[in-house]
Amino acid sequence: MPRQFFVGGNFKMNGVAESITSIVNNLNSAKLDSTTEVVISPPALYLTLTRSLADPKIGVAAQNVFDKPNGAFTGEISVEQLKDTKIDWVVIGHSERRVILKETDEFIARKTKAAIDGGLSVIFCIGETLEEREANKTIEVVTRQLNAAAKELSKEQWAKVVIAYEPVWAIGTGKVATTEQAQEVHAAIREWLGKSIDAHAQDNVRVIYGGSVSEKNCRELATQPDVDGFLVGGASLKPAFVDIINARI
Ligand code: PEP
Repeated sequence: MPRQFFVGGNFKMNGVAESITSIVNNLNSAKLDSTTEVVISPPALYLTLTRSLADPKIGVAAQNVFDKPNGAFTGEISVEQLKDTKIDWVVIGHSERRVILKETDEFIARKTKAAIDGGLSVIFCIGETLEEREANKTIEVVTRQLNAAAKELSKEQWAKVVIAYEPVWAIGTGKVATTEQAQEVHAAIREWLGKSIDAHAQDNVRVIYGGSVSEKNCRELATQPDVDGFLVGGASLKPAFVDIINARI
């Protein structure tokens, strides 16, 4: 079975009730490729609003979750609380959290484990900085980030993971990776899945690309055999998000 194309929209810390309502209504009324899985990720305060408005076919993801079940963790949100509010997805390891909030590979891996143990699916973000790319360390960095998750997850749990390869230098910069650069890293991630998890994960885990994806560049990226979709930041707030969801039709 071919892997189902997946497009995520990461709103980051953008939007208020009115604008988020308008984005969701726009998606609800648009003609979306029915073969593409769509998941949108609003700020935490608007998760329940988004879930109540969005067509049930559209998934909703939190942008973060904590690794402990409950307790004295001011400002954090638990897996149980997300499940309780009918949220089925979470974005973990976004570079803005790795870089700005100093989240470590190990913490990100623990959160991924807690999320999947508690019944969530995870958009697991990895990617190198410009400095790391220029030092030819891209594969080393993404392998290190993946190895941390592999230490925590069972083989079966990879069925609940979508890997988002997001070169940090391409996020929000307008500098998209070339199709060749994206395909090369995606193929290496797929090879890693085969070697470090198993053949089933290698064939079935989706590896999506993120970093300045737009309605202009999505079609070419989508032609690559190991690009199974996109994680979209800025453009997910615009009507053009529909064109990215429909990149393959
Ligand atoms: C992101 O936030 O995951 C992202 C890829 O952002 P942008 O599309 O704006 O580069």
